Amino acid sequence: MTPDGRFGAFGGQYLPEALMEAVIELETGYERFRKDQTAQNELDRYLAEFAGRPTPLTFAPRISEDLGCRVYLKREDLLHGGAHKLNNTLGQALLARYMGRTRLIAETGAGQHGVATAIVGAALGLPVEIYMGAADIERQRLNVFRMELLGARVHAVESGTRTLKDAVNAALRDWTASSESTHYLLGTAAGPHPYPTMVRDFQAVIGTELRAQCLAAAGRLPDLLVACIGGGSNAIGTFAPSLADPGIRMLGVEAGGEGVSTGCHGATLCCGSPGVLHGTLSYLLQDPEGQVAETHSIAAGLDYPGVGPELADLQEQGRIACTAVTDTEAVDALGYLARREGIIPALESAHAIAGARHCAGSLTPDEIMVITISGRGDKDMHDLARQRGVVV
Ligand SMILES: *Cc1c(COP(=O)(O)O)cnc(C)c1O
Repeated sequence: MTPDGRFGAFGGQYLPEALMEAVIELETGYERFRKDQTAQNELDRYLAEFAGRPTPLTFAPRISEDLGCRVYLKREDLLHGGAHKLNNTLGQALLARYMGRTRLIAETGAGQHGVATAIVGAALGLPVEIYMGAADIERQRLNVFRMELLGARVHAVESGTRTLKDAVNAALRDWTASSESTHYLLGTAAGPHPYPTMVRDFQAVIGTELRAQCLAAAGRLPDLLVACIGGGSNAIGTFAPSLADPGIRMLGVEAGGEGVSTGCHGATLCCGSPGVLHGTLSYLLQDPEGQVAETHSIAAGLDYPGVGPELADLQEQGRIACTAVTDTEAVDALGYLARREGIIPALESAHAIAGARHCAGSLTPDEIMVITISGRGDKDMHDLARQRGVVV
């Protein structure tokens, strides 16, 4: 990364003048926080005592048999809250307190990031306000209930398509007027600098732990890392600590939706083109006129038209490979992991399993593949059962 927050051609700060001071202060605050050993020790303590780190690295014997190599699963599904999101929200909430901020705001689509933010707000005693598209509120009532139970206030955003990108705009508008008192807790490794770097650093605990755990369990580092990509935070967190090891290959798995040829998907790195969204230059799904495209995925967490700038750069460099899997393949992979290993993954994480299945036979029997299970599947059971005509 360059000092102005670029990864190759991507990244940067594409913001109205009124927000520049807020991100520059955040950048300075984060630099101090990162180098402050007392602050880092406190983050480590919360990650261990509150969130439940380290999460296990689980050997998957039957998947290993099926794929023809040694497969391990990095179990972010076992983190408090049921997904990797808490690594980031804990880090940013402690940073907010460190910078003297007294209020947290966040955007949320399906509500998972809103819940993870509400959790840390309650844990650290910081009031939380969540912006959520009105259409998403109707679809995700249970997560709205969770956020409110945790003490957060949820604002319905009625503008535009009443979904995630309108919620981001509303949160940015709030922050423009409130940045002296308020931290904007962004949910993925995208957005203007310093967010992509900061969120990567908070999620890199995944990739750092798995290296040590793999060495301890198998006597050597992995040969292939696999993770799903929405905005890209669990993927960059899995990959970042291993980027300097040229022998470790990396595969990002995107939402192929109804198939990448249908236009009904969220496969930004596979099918997108460079453009600016939410303050950063990265790959983007857009129509020929440059309008941000409508995306689709059965996994709400992958249903985003942008992607983090560092992943865009890593793909252009050829350092990471990307593939897309369809909704059908992901649902199938969810059932496969459940039956073969006794783990029900989130639909997002099931994309990583499906992507790994594409690699069957491409590794030798003694080579090691580590798949990040970004979250658990409980949140998806209701919809899945209903699709199968099961009344729950
Ligand atoms: C939110 C979410 C994702 C997608 O977010 P990234 O920033 O790409 O990691 C993936 N898996 C789960 C379980 C999620 O909740």
